[in-house]
Amino acid sequence: MQNPRIAVVGAGIGGLATAAALARAGLRCDVFDRRDRPGRLSGMGLGIQLSPNGVRALRDLGAVPRRGAVVRPDAVELRRWRDNALLGRAPLDDAETRYGAPYWTLTRADLSGALLAAVDGAGLHLGRRCIGASVGRGGVRLRFADGGEHVADLVIGADGVHSALRAALGEDGGLGPRYSGHVAYRAVVPAAELPSHLVHPHRVRVWLGPGRHCVSYPVRGGEQVNIVATAPSPSPALHPENLIMGYAEWCGSVRAVLSAAAGRGRVWPLWSGAPVPRRHRGGLVLLGDAAHPALPWMAQGASQALEDAVTLGRCLSGDDRAPLERYETLRGARAARLAAAIRTATDEHHLPDGLRQRRRDRRLSTPPDRDWLYGYDATAGVTS
Ligand SMILES: Cc1cc2nc3c(=O)[nH]c(=O)nc-3n(C[C@H](O)[C@H](O)[C@H](O)COP(=O)(O)OP(=O)(O)OC[C@H]3O[C@@H](n4cnc5c(N)ncnc54)[C@H](O)[C@@H]3O)c2cc1C
Repeated sequence: MQNPRIAVVGAGIGGLATAAALARAGLRCDVFDRRDRPGRLSGMGLGIQLSPNGVRALRDLGAVPRRGAVVRPDAVELRRWRDNALLGRAPLDDAETRYGAPYWTLTRADLSGALLAAVDGAGLHLGRRCIGASVGRGGVRLRFADGGEHVADLVIGADGVHSALRAALGEDGGLGPRYSGHVAYRAVVPAAELPSHLVHPHRVRVWLGPGRHCVSYPVRGGEQVNIVATAPSPSPALHPENLIMGYAEWCGSVRAVLSAAAGRGRVWPLWSGAPVPRRHRGGLVLLGDAAHPALPWMAQGASQALEDAVTLGRCLSGDDRAPLERYETLRGARAARLAAAIRTATDEHHLPDGLRQRRRDRRLSTPPDRDWLYGYDATAGVTS
């Protein structure tokens, strides 16, 4: 189709990446987001880990973070909750050679800034909350909370975990995400306020313990440290103090990290769900968390949204007669494999001390195989 009318719903990581991928393919689009400004996304100052597969996708989109924004951690380190004993270390300093791209940690604001700069010629429509869509022969009709409508030949739903567009897939939209029973406290602290052994070398540090885990990694060129601490909670609302109190018996390193983080962050409910059984119907297609809501145990959601965008952009710009089917096939298989790995992580991350935990700890002393995950090229399998 010559000059198709394309609309993207959601200007988060997946939506902006899609607009950049379309621009790269010479396709124009309109992007709608419920927020007033892209920078107003909650949690923008917080950090994000981009594994080599995500960085590779970002590079393919031509998105370059500003100078000094990214950190290249030298390893991911797993430690034991009570005594800080090292359980395993996966080196990352050879990522560029091994996987074709480095491992980065940065803030979401710096990632969004890079994507926004790569979005060339897209019309950004902010303050537009989509409340539903209908798929018909004449295209996809979007409905907005302000009473407005918009019709496009192709609508790409990148509206996150609580997608308003998933329902328009009918039964193929699946059951949708549920509250997982876990919350996460997230904060960013100045690196200068942490003991230096928790800052240098630049590293992703993860402490595993019964029912919870805590993560820290540097952002903003190492000037700040992003902290995430999870906790089980029957309700999605847990007071930050109660969450932090649950770490009272953890080792001094975790207590130091959390005492620096106290009062600086907030608690977020975590949602889990299965990938949608089918990602598209007619001219409506989903990507990112809208298509595969998942617990963040493997720090992959943003990287997967970037991969989705690259693959979809390539499918649409190639000469494939059924580009959405091709996208579905390529990305569906990837999402299913990752969902299985996340299920295993969900089962193993929070083991109480005992036989299973000791077996897991022994396994962790050998770095897990990440070649399938980090070495992935989102342009593979697409002709363009
Ligand atoms: C605690 C935690 C830690 C994480 N850490 C990592 C990590 O280290 N690495 C990683 O790769 N991933 C991580 N993730 C996952 C990652 O944040 C998400 O997977 C990623 O943001 C998904 O991008 P998205 O564009 O699909 O959705 P989002 O980033 O949620 O963007 C959705 C966009 O759609 C807009 N929107 C929503 N509804 C509507 C509507 N009805 N109408 C119009 N616009 C709408 C929103 O305003 C938003 O701009 C983490 C998640 C959590 C919770």
